[in-house]
Amino acid sequence: MTTKVDLLSLLPTELEEFFLSTGEPKFRAKQVFQRLHRGERVSEITNLSKALRERLVSETLDTLPVVEEKLVSKIDGTVKYLFRLHDGACIESVFMKYKHGNTLCISSQVGCRMGCKFCASTIGGRVRDLQPSELLGQVIAAEKDSGERISNIVMMGIGEPLDNYDNVIKFLRLVNHPDGLNIGYRHISLSTCGVVDGINKLATVDIPITLSISLHAANDERRSEIMPINNKWNIASLLQACVSYYKTTGRRISFEYTLISGKNDSEADATELAALLNSYFRPIGAPIHVNLIRVNEVKETGFKKGSNESVNAFAKALEKRGITATVRRKLGSDVNAACGQLRRSNLNKKEEY
Ligand code: SAH
Repeated sequence: MTTKVDLLSLLPTELEEFFLSTGEPKFRAKQVFQRLHRGERVSEITNLSKALRERLVSETLDTLPVVEEKLVSKIDGTVKYLFRLHDGACIESVFMKYKHGNTLCISSQVGCRMGCKFCASTIGGRVRDLQPSELLGQVIAAEKDSGERISNIVMMGIGEPLDNYDNVIKFLRLVNHPDGLNIGYRHISLSTCGVVDGINKLATVDIPITLSISLHAANDERRSEIMPINNKWNIASLLQACVSYYKTTGRRISFEYTLISGKNDSEADATELAALLNSYFRPIGAPIHVNLIRVNEVKETGFKKGSNESVNAFAKALEKRGITATVRRKLGSDVNAACGQLRRSNLNKKEEY
């Protein structure tokens, strides 16, 4: 049996090869690329002959995610999607409206194997990586469902994007392509728990996206307690990779810091964090930005969020030491089960995946 081709994962040059190998002219590639990226399925591309459409339907995979469940916030219109993939696995994406445009937060893997202690997405481990078509498909399917253009993407959903490096890079090239969605690299952020070899590789490809680092602690002892990745790449090696990334790309790096009550949210923690970041980034003149997030309480983890006052005091302590800090505005609080929780509750219902 020949394996079916995943057309939506192919770049235009690869699509050309595919059509040439099936005896079709090269120009079919552009036609099909444009239509697929607009959300049409192969069977709906009516400017292809019926015979060719039927052949493509039988020889290719339909990998466009399907809306399984959708929660719409009554407060601000945020939409949380549970998408079902062609093999039955489910992932989450979140559509948010900001003044600077519509943003989609996408997943990069089915589950996650990074094991961060506060995170719901990692509880059942990693099931599989997402293919480029499934990364892109979240954007296409959300545009199709909402009828709105998405102008920004954040890779902060389920999974560790740099643990799925090759597929993520291909996705970035696909989503940026002028014949497709044409979303600028500067409108895309990728968040990592600190996969240093991935950060180093990312610095060498010409894809100037914004890198966001999930730091969450200012010393190794504390970080290793909540983020096992720190045992492989400690804070020094992570921040050194960030310095190199900045030197090579000139792109500002932002840091995510999830505040957990009594664990990492004291004023002394803020002072330590400021000293750490200043020691690496002041000497090279790099701007430093910290995004503070109050931990989303996940029933399995037992971590608690602190008071608004403690968050504000933490932000003030950073600002006093020259570090800009923003407290993440919470969109869709009425639909915002912490990332990964919608998929988990769906799993518990179905006990598959
Ligand atoms: N694996 C990537 C991207 C996915 S998580 C990463 O670790 O960066 C996106 C962000 O949400 C990360 O900063 C992550 O640490 C944070 N996060 C995960 N669970 C959380 C929770 N329960 N409360 C608050 N932030 C959480």
